[in-house]
Amino acid sequence: MTTLQKATQQQTKSHNSHLVLKAIYDQRQISRADISRLTSLTRTTVSDLVTELQGKGLVEEIGYGQSRGGRSPILLSVIDDARHLIAIDLENDELRGAVVNLRNEIISTVSQPLRRREGDEALILVYELVDKLIATTDKPLLGIGVGTPGLVDASTKVVLRAVNLNWRGMPLGDLLQERYGLPVYVANDSQLAALAQYMFGAGKYGSNLIVVKVGTGIGAGLILDGRLFHGDGFGAGEIGHIGVVENGQQCRCGNLGCLETVATTPAILKRMHALARPVPRSVSHNPTAIADDLTLDVVQESFVAGHPAATQAVLEAGRYLGIAAANLVGTLNVHRIVFLSRLAWFGTPLLDAIRQEMIRRVLPTLTQDTEIELIDLRPEMVILGASALLMSHELGLQLSQ
Ligand SMILES: [Zn+2]
Repeated sequence: MTTLQKATQQQTKSHNSHLVLKAIYDQRQISRADISRLTSLTRTTVSDLVTELQGKGLVEEIGYGQSRGGRSPILLSVIDDARHLIAIDLENDELRGAVVNLRNEIISTVSQPLRRREGDEALILVYELVDKLIATTDKPLLGIGVGTPGLVDASTKVVLRAVNLNWRGMPLGDLLQERYGLPVYVANDSQLAALAQYMFGAGKYGSNLIVVKVGTGIGAGLILDGRLFHGDGFGAGEIGHIGVVENGQQCRCGNLGCLETVATTPAILKRMHALARPVPRSVSHNPTAIADDLTLDVVQESFVAGHPAATQAVLEAGRYLGIAAANLVGTLNVHRIVFLSRLAWFGTPLLDAIRQEMIRRVLPTLTQDTEIELIDLRPEMVILGASALLMSHELGLQLSQ
């Protein structure tokens, strides 16, 4: 047998093994005969592969099912804690990580304040975070999944650019792989949040979904034909830096008037501050002069009380998000758009502002079936997306389908 034939045979075996594992995982309990029916693999092949999965400790026999005449079949099940996964989210000022089991249940969490550390110092913090997480579990580890802001080369696992960590060309995947001897997957945080949302939707989104994550930054994840779309340079969905204000404020990327300068949570705070209390010239020239006591809670209270500055700041941001939605719908004609954000608190008024602006800017036939949802961003969304990515690559368990 040639090396190529051997490699092909190995690949087929691994593919079949994933099929069998997925059947057991999805059905929760199933007999060997039913796996054979579901996967169209022969009973002997299924039997061999099940024995192998049992040997790896991934699958166990849990008792007998109902007989359909003849002997009662033995039922198989995936052991949820057979492997634990390390999943981390580097998006915020606080790095967060979790140990997750094969059902994407969070077993333990650890967080680490970034405290403005960047470059190699930020990398050391990531190591510390992973060390602490590993110390909380005694189960075999499947690998490490990482969600990071910025651009990520999904094939080389290099973070091309992450502004909050001041990383350029950081070979994060290789570094973690070398240090821990585990498989590592790295992806953009918005893309992972999109993957998690798609997965939790359990089929409700069909094959296309756009998820726009709005926090201290803005990014979108595009699921097209059931798969994450990366773009030619891995920057698909980087809508936070599309210019929406002519000659607007300077953005951290260097351009003027990016969406991030007018529609993130900090941008809303800044806008409300400017509208509510016109500051003296000397202070207004100081970029750090945003009142520290102005938080999203204050904006929410003022919004409920009908304070015009709060209403205007929030609805303006909504209209800018509507421009982004219009561009996405006009380009991709996707019918489902989800905004994941703490701004979901502002509910219908904000949603209406987004929707109306989108409708005003796109061909009516494209928007008539477009549904926009505004959903609170669960803090663990990126973490769950990172573990889903790891599971789908390592075990073929694509939870989204
Ligand atoms: Zn920008």
